[in-house]
Amino acid sequence: MACVGVIETNTTFCPSDPSMTDMSTGLMTGHCYCTSLLEMGSLLICLHQMNYYDDAMVKHLSKACSRSHPNITVDGQFFDAVYDNALNYAITPAPDMDPTLTCSTPIRVRAEPVRIYYQSYYNRFSNFTLTLNLGAGFIALFTAYMIVSGMSNWALIIFPGLIKKTNGPRVQKLRALFSLSATFKKDRTVPMKLGGYLFGYIPTRLETIVITFLWLYMIFACSFRFRHVRGNPMWNMKMGEIGRQVVDRSGVLALFVYPFMILFAGRNNILVYVTRWNYSRFNTYHRHMSRIFFTLSLTHSVGMVIASFGISSTTYRYRMSQAYILWGLFGTVFAGFILIQSMLILRRRSYELFLAVHIFFAIIVLVSVHCHIDSLGYGGFTWTVMGLWVLDRVIRLYRISRFGIQTATVAIISGDTLKVTVPKPANWGGKPGQYAFVSFIMPSCFWQSHPFTMITENDKLISFTILIKGGVTHGVFKHISSMPGRVANIKVAIEGPYGFSSPTQTYSQSLLLASGNGIPGLYDHAMMSSKSGAHHSVKLIWIIRDYLSITWMQEEMSKLRRTKVETVIYVTRPIDSPEYIEDFSSSNTLTSTLRGSIVSDSSAESIDSYYLGSESDAGTTYSVERDTEKKEDIYPYPEPVLSRAERARRQLPHVCFKEGRPDIDALVKEEIEQANGSLAVVTCGIANMVDSVRYALVNNLDKSLHRVDYFEELQTWA
Ligand SMILES: Cc1cc2nc3c(=O)[nH]c(=O)nc-3n(C[C@H](O)[C@H](O)[C@H](O)COP(=O)(O)OP(=O)(O)OC[C@H]3O[C@@H](n4cnc5c(N)ncnc54)[C@H](O)[C@@H]3O)c2cc1C
Repeated sequence: MACVGVIETNTTFCPSDPSMTDMSTGLMTGHCYCTSLLEMGSLLICLHQMNYYDDAMVKHLSKACSRSHPNITVDGQFFDAVYDNALNYAITPAPDMDPTLTCSTPIRVRAEPVRIYYQSYYNRFSNFTLTLNLGAGFIALFTAYMIVSGMSNWALIIFPGLIKKTNGPRVQKLRALFSLSATFKKDRTVPMKLGGYLFGYIPTRLETIVITFLWLYMIFACSFRFRHVRGNPMWNMKMGEIGRQVVDRSGVLALFVYPFMILFAGRNNILVYVTRWNYSRFNTYHRHMSRIFFTLSLTHSVGMVIASFGISSTTYRYRMSQAYILWGLFGTVFAGFILIQSMLILRRRSYELFLAVHIFFAIIVLVSVHCHIDSLGYGGFTWTVMGLWVLDRVIRLYRISRFGIQTATVAIISGDTLKVTVPKPANWGGKPGQYAFVSFIMPSCFWQSHPFTMITENDKLISFTILIKGGVTHGVFKHISSMPGRVANIKVAIEGPYGFSSPTQTYSQSLLLASGNGIPGLYDHAMMSSKSGAHHSVKLIWIIRDYLSITWMQEEMSKLRRTKVETVIYVTRPIDSPEYIEDFSSSNTLTSTLRGSIVSDSSAESIDSYYLGSESDAGTTYSVERDTEKKEDIYPYPEPVLSRAERARRQLPHVCFKEGRPDIDALVKEEIEQANGSLAVVTCGIANMVDSVRYALVNNLDKSLHRVDYFEELQTWA
């Protein structure tokens, strides 16, 4: 390239052809030396003179020029003949020779400009080698982190005994400091607000450290070994040359982030099985990988503008008319749109709209990036990314087909909750805490699939307890409200099971802490643990707002009666419990009377807040109307015979009822202090409570001589 560069700036052997011009430099890159024996002769003289002619060079030239000479063998002998012939006729061009005139004899070039060309090209292309190594390093380091994290998570399952023994003060301190804590004080599942608006989730401390490292790695990777070669014939301005190197570095590095970004967004990401991370954690990394991808793409685009300093206006115009450049710009702009449209405040406003727009924009970015990189030889990245995406969709279809379309019995229980009971195929798994995506096959919403934690009722049935919110759940609620008995059969598609079950049975004790509708998974854990070894003790604590909420899990709570599970229910606002004459004992969950009315009111306190009587973060736009003044209109029943609290206590004598809000910190501390063996603390429910449990556990980890592990089953990505 150095020899050709100097030869072609000194004279002309082939007519000018823009398609053979390097868009970034304006220099000929086509193989004119193959088609013109005069240029080939000049090139061979230069190669010999500079000691660049060796076996590798012969191989390279043969490969490049064979097509131009289909009837002869283009090998060392051929080049020797051309070289010998050229030596006989070669001239050294005069300094004032017009380089645009077509030359009819081979030329000799001076060594010094060839050396400068060589350094200039070397400077540019060694940057790619370095970039590929940095990209591979990024993947290698993140993979190493996933493997280490996966090993420690799998060790909990494979070597539970060993893990229980690793509980020295130093280990406890490290766990409290890094792996268990929220980044700052408490907030992890409660989203951060800025200026009163939802801003985003703060990852755990360990995740924050990893994310910070990812950013630092990429900032560092884009910041070193940029040089300007003095006299560079392609970029006479330092800024232009360095700009171009930044462009190449950031653009190629973005491609290394690209597969992670897509893989981490999929439900069927194979790395789940390597790491045992939940979807929420992958989603956190997906978001940060996407931000890094966009920042690198933006740097790539801005750098391109800076790299244009010093190039001719013709070359600039030519460059900007190239389709691949325009696709690149288009892709960067849409990647920016995606970042804006996926802000938490918009995700919360309408998750389904967010998802549809997100996928549509992602396809635009995918196509744009492909059209931008394919001609540059990076098409493999697109096929990798598309492969991952398509594979995820295929596995999703497979999961749905395995379950089959089933007829679910859907009933309204307690006014704000649906109970969905579905027959399951015999060989279909499902462990406590796992969830499945449910699609209600109704004209208004069959394309949507929403995650719900399932309860394994028996070998043949699973069920979901679904809080009515403002989208699909409200649509189903409206549909069933008009049905006799407020029960309906609806066809459903179930995709799952997803997620890992917390390994509670490997501990001496489990403390299961649920609030509100976080109960299904923890109830399932309690039931499963109660059937396991006699040495495992289980305490289930459920925090609800009023006695009315018990009806969601009426049957399930009754089933705990003859088990070893110690059940405590905290009712935070007992006096708000509406009263009915309906017999609590006969309140079969499928036929319970609707006792609330759903009202649309975006300013209303959210449903979730009722469970704890605290300010909610759930962002739902519907609330259950419980205004006692209006109760007469809604519930035209005579006065109750027994208070709801009284009936609850009679019907669930095995449950310890406590009224008022529990002090989570004191509660967790007490359980840890009293633990006489390893303890698994599992929590799910209202974000505030879940964060409080994590915080309390971190602060009291050293209060027990035994290993205490924390399993959070609340997942936050929407
Ligand atoms: C792993 C997991 C398990 C869950 N288990 C249960 C459960 O057992 N019972 C229960 O009542 N709820 C559960 N949820 C919450 C449930 O998925 C949402 O309440 C439901 O999707 C709301 O549907 P909608 O169309 O009526 O909501 P909308 O009114 O449209 O949205 C209300 C809120 O629900 C969330 N949401 C909506 N769609 C999705 C989605 N596709 N994925 C994730 N979040 C979404 C968003 O935060 C949104 O702001 C679970 C969520 C997750 C992530």
